[in-house]
Amino acid sequence: MRHQGSRRQLRRRPAARRHRCHHLRGRRRTRRHRSPSRHLAAAAGATLGVHGAIAVDRQMRTNLPDVFAAGDCVHTYHRLLDRHVYLPLGSTAHKQGRVAGTNALGGEALFAGSLGTQAVKVFDLVAAGTGLRDENARKAGYDPVTAATIADDHKAYYPGSTPIRIRVTGDRRTGKLLGAQLLGSRGAEIAKRIDTYATAISYGASVADIAELDLSYTPPLGSPWDAVQVATTNWQREVMERR
Ligand SMILES: Cc1cc2nc3c(=O)[nH]c(=O)nc-3n(C[C@H](O)[C@H](O)[C@H](O)COP(=O)(O)OP(=O)(O)OC[C@H]3O[C@@H](n4cnc5c(N)ncnc54)[C@H](O)[C@@H]3O)c2cc1C
Repeated sequence: MRHQGSRRQLRRRPAARRHRCHHLRGRRRTRRHRSPSRHLAAAAGATLGVHGAIAVDRQMRTNLPDVFAAGDCVHTYHRLLDRHVYLPLGSTAHKQGRVAGTNALGGEALFAGSLGTQAVKVFDLVAAGTGLRDENARKAGYDPVTAATIADDHKAYYPGSTPIRIRVTGDRRTGKLLGAQLLGSRGAEIAKRIDTYATAISYGASVADIAELDLSYTPPLGSPWDAVQVATTNWQREVMERR
């Protein structure tokens, strides 16, 4: 890979090579984010936590008097695992920043926690996830069942419908919704659909609760049973069949 190319040279490169360079650059940056630069904080006496990130409580207080921290440099409270993990996300950084700022000014705020909800666009595809996957759920002491479903993003008789692949993970014993992952086309509202699951998990919903949600429906945009509900109904069916 040539690093010295001018803008003009970069533009002339074949598309495949340009994408490869972009991909590599993205990976390198991501790896750096997985382990924050900790030297300044450590030298100042800050206790370090998960992945060497600065240890904070849910008020975003460090162990140092009157020093608060938030964002990629700290470890993050996970609301399903009930422990801290390293989840460097912009969505999380903003919420932690508000909590840190409120408490630094004498207020009383508590970081509710993260579920690791995220979405990524890859060309015309969008992948999104929230909560726990089967393996993490089992490690955390749950009895997970994961069901895979393919459901249309809107009524098939209305032109332009596309399939959404959905995996729903729930706890067999309690029926608690633990996580979901979606993959579909860019126009299939993947990010907003993962947010439906994230919202439900945040309020301790069961998998069965999803079917009761009053979600919007119009043929060009959805179905009377939305794709998120088709997937949870399928989860319930699979659990029944395995009994
Ligand atoms: C390529 C990429 C894509 C991403 N996409 C998403 C996404 O789609 N969704 C999402 O939720 N998150 C995403 N993130 C993660 C998100 O950007 C970070 O979680 C978020 O920006 C963290 O905010 P922060 O304030 O902790 O750190 P930053 O945003 O990194 O801000 C830290 C600031 O401190 C400055 N700084 C550093 N050292 C010093 C110093 N010694 N003195 C003074 N200033 C200093 C830096 O220049 C920077 O401005 C992405 C990250 C990357 C790298």
